[in-house]
This record gives sequence, structure tokens and C-alpha cells, in this order.
Amino acid sequence: MTREIYIVGNWKMNQKISDIESFFNAMKKIKGKYNCHAWVAPQAMHIETCLKLGRDNGILVGSQNCADHQSGAYTGELSPLSLKDIGAHFSIIGHSERRHIYGEVDNYLNAKTLLALQSGLWAIFCVGEKLEEREAGKTNEVVKRQVTEGLKNIPSEYHDRIIIAYEPVWAIGTGKTATPQQAQEVHSFIRNELLEQINLDAKAISILYGGSVKPSNVKELLGQNDIDGALVGGASLKGEDFGKLCMPE
Ligand code: PEP
Repeated sequence: MTREIYIVGNWKMNQKISDIESFFNAMKKIKGKYNCHAWVAPQAMHIETCLKLGRDNGILVGSQNCADHQSGAYTGELSPLSLKDIGAHFSIIGHSERRHIYGEVDNYLNAKTLLALQSGLWAIFCVGEKLEEREAGKTNEVVKRQVTEGLKNIPSEYHDRIIIAYEPVWAIGTGKTATPQQAQEVHSFIRNELLEQINLDAKAISILYGGSVKPSNVKELLGQNDIDGALVGGASLKGEDFGKLCMPE
């Protein structure tokens, strides 16, 4: 199985309806020309709008988060089964803002990942070290713990719907991108030293880089052997920029 290239926009808590319409109007102009799978994760209340507008553009839509339960008394949560039911394709799980602002821990993220996959969604599972962890030489240790705990005991029938996103926390929304070499080192660690240990097919899984990716640096990042796409925040909000990320010159 060959690895595929994904450019995934994480819109976070941004975008009004008018912004979303402008985004899809810009993407319509380059329809059919992307070199990758183009996915976006809007705020939950905009998923259906994006599903309608994305359909004609070949853009798939997912959520930024999902619950560790399918239904019941969980006020404010997003059921993976209901996401699948309305046509969502994937969920981002374990984004650093969920880990560090909302305190989501490895076991909890493992439960969400399993449930998302059981519900038929793809899971984009995020990992990444904080600045002090990198400076203390702990990058591999942190990423290893996040991957092994977060993806443990996932039955093999679901493995082909897992994507990993390596996002160093110090590079998210800061304008500081990891150098292509820094990113490649961690991607290679995840792929070659780690995935096989937890019984995931290292050769088949796409590993995306995230952290201040923009049109001017995407090509060099994607040129690295083990970087199979990007998870993008700020530069994914405007269709013109997202279009450039999806078809780098
Ligand atoms: C992200 O939100 O996952 C992200 C990488 O953000 P940014 O591209 O803005 O750094």
C-alpha cells in the first residue's frame, strides 16, 4: 500500500458562514487540480455547511474533536456516531490545544480514538512535544509515550483509517516552523522505531507535520521522506492559501 498525501485544515474556533463561503468559492477555481487529499475541520456547527459546499470541490469534512461515548448524558460533547451519521469523514484527536488547555490525557485519547474508528470515522491522532521537553532532549520520549498509549489496543481492522500528525507544540501558531530536518527526524522515529512496536504498519501510515505550515514552506516539508502531508491551522483559513498548500508549485 502506498502512503497518500493529505493537507488538512484545522480551522479551530474561527470562520463565520461568509468566511466559509469565500473559502469554498476560492477552492472551486482550482477544483480537480490538487495534488493531495484536501480535508477541513470546521467548528462543529459548520460541519453540515462545509459538507454541502465541500461536496462539489472534492473536499472532505471532519471534526476537531469527538467524545469518548456514543450517546447519553454528556452535555456539550460530540458523538462520533452522530458525526458519521451526518457525513463527517474524520475526527482530529489529541490536538495539543485539547491536551494542554483542556487536560486530555493519553488513556482518554485512546478511548476517543477507538470509538471514532469503531464509528467509521478516520482518526487524525496528534502528538508533539512542548518547547521545554525538546530543550531537555525529551522529544522522542514524549512522542513515544503519546503514540504507544494513545494508539494501544486498536484492532488491526481499523489501522487503515489512522493518520498521525506530528505537531511540535512550540511550532503551533507561533510562526516558528520545525526545520524540515527536525520534522523528518521525528517522523522517521515514529515510523521506523515506533509503529511496528505497537503493531501498526509503519510503511502504510501517513504521518502529517503540523506547526506554522504555509505556502512558502510546504514544498520543502513535503519533500522529506517521511512527511506525508500537513495539518494546518492559520494558513488554512483562506481558500487562496489552502489552495496553494494543496498544489505546491
Ligand atoms: C494546528 O492547529 O494544528 C496548527 C498546526 O496550527 P498553525 O498551522 O497555525 O501553526
